[in-house]
Amino acid sequence: MPIHEKSLIRQENINVQDELVIDGVDVSGHWSTFIESRAIMDYNEAMEEEIATLPGGEYIHRCWQCGSCTNSCTVNEIDPEFNPRFWIYLIRTGMESELLRDKERIWQCVSCNKCTYSCPRDVNPEGVMKATAHWLELKGHTPKSSSMVFDEVFTEQVVATGKIEEGRTLRRFLGRTGQPLFQDWIIEMTKRMASHLPVKLLTKMGIASLVAPRTRRWAKAGAAIQEYQNERVAEHRRALKLDELIAAAEHELSSAEQAESVSS
Ligand code: SF4
Ligand code: SF4
Repeated sequence: MPIHEKSLIRQENINVQDELVIDGVDVSGHWSTFIESRAIMDYNEAMEEEIATLPGGEYIHRCWQCGSCTNSCTVNEIDPEFNPRFWIYLIRTGMESELLRDKERIWQCVSCNKCTYSCPRDVNPEGVMKATAHWLELKGHTPKSSSMVFDEVFTEQVVATGKIEEGRTLRRFLGRTGQPLFQDWIIEMTKRMASHLPVKLLTKMGIASLVAPRTRRWAKAGAAIQEYQNERVAEHRRALKLDELIAAAEHELSSAEQAESVSS
């Protein structure tokens, strides 16, 4: 039986017999294509709730799988395996191991929000992609993505000073992600800015990058934002049971070390 929608099935799950003759009839190749059977035993029933706790994931329960998000997605156009609708399905059905197979793709969302504008159920698929990338990182499945590092640098500066100074943000972001400050595109951007922007503005920008500007009487507001942020981080850790996971991993590690020292 030929499979008409092969593009919807992972390549490794398609089994084609190149040479098969049954009762003298050649049914090789296309006519002998099967989908590998699979049994998923490790459902994570808490996954939807965990992702819904993280910023952006709140409305994942509204999804009715229409596929408009994937159809309008910028990244899907380049990489058909980038499929927000499918990932939302996996999350809602608790298929964690299936989702983890795409962990290197999910963070590639470019936050263009085309999916968000085309979603008929106000799911905010862009937010769900962010929340999922964050979930993967918090659970230790992926390293911290560059966009997460950028968010951290940006937020730290706002909380500390009540202002954003682009030069300082860029320098810190490059430093934390281990990238050199002098890169071709930065040099080119600086040259163009120097030749197009008025001297007064350039001087102001130069001073601001050296002396961090602050919003007046910001301390109280900054402290309140920081307190709120700490509460949210603690809430996320509780929802994802991160402290229990870390304690279990430490226990496992120390048991393995003890067993090794006894045997040696
Ligand atoms: S925000 Fe992300 S998921 Fe949504 S359309 Fe853009 S790239 Fe695709
Ligand atoms: S467009 Fe909205 S409702 Fe449709 S599949 Fe995507 S997230 Fe779900």
